[in-house]
Amino acid sequence: MKWINDLIDLIFPRHCIVCDEVLSGSEKDICLKCLVTLPVIDDIHSKEIEKIFWGIVPIERATSYLYYRKGSPYNKLLHQLKYKERPEVGTHLATIATGDLKEKGFFDGIDAIVPLPLSKKKLRKRGYNQCDYIAKGISQITGIPIITDCIVRNKANETQTHKTREERWLNVEGIFSLTKPEKIESKHILLIDDVLTTGATIANCAKTIIEANCKVSIFTIAYSSNAT
Ligand SMILES: [Zn+2]
Repeated sequence: MKWINDLIDLIFPRHCIVCDEVLSGSEKDICLKCLVTLPVIDDIHSKEIEKIFWGIVPIERATSYLYYRKGSPYNKLLHQLKYKERPEVGTHLATIATGDLKEKGFFDGIDAIVPLPLSKKKLRKRGYNQCDYIAKGISQITGIPIITDCIVRNKANETQTHKTREERWLNVEGIFSLTKPEKIESKHILLIDDVLTTGATIANCAKTIIEANCKVSIFTIAYSSNAT
């Protein structure tokens, strides 16, 4: 059926999300040129991501796949995932990231994947949880099951922009609660989010999961080091 796809490409050309060049048959979302130059976070800086949680919440390991830098064209990938109703981009990016991380043993010992939940209000507005799509990509490659009905988010965050670091932490305190702790009890959970900034929200979610006697590791697609 390749000719049908080629014909569709001819009539409705698909474009690279990052550079807007026309994609060829086998390319998906991102052209090969942009794919090989993705701003992937190296191992040394991956350690810096774990440090964000030190003294806040005891996690096993944490990493992000890409840098989210101000003005970078690669940020468009995250915008498509989060705001432009193309959540499948998250699944695609997660499958790419998972290949690399699996070889390094990042998923060893992990029993289940939990996408960071959205509040009901936010979910209604967006129509999907982008973290579910990221989780799907990881699960496809690793075979680790996804659990979505164990924890809920009671309210959305207020804007964090003008708050101090301490205020940001307090602002999200207690916004998650366990609904079916027995589903995750004593498991090693991989908690998923799209972009890691201050870490306040994801740390609070991790704290709540740990209440079910769990170990928690963290994966996000991107890391925004611009946050202070
Ligand atoms: Zn491109």
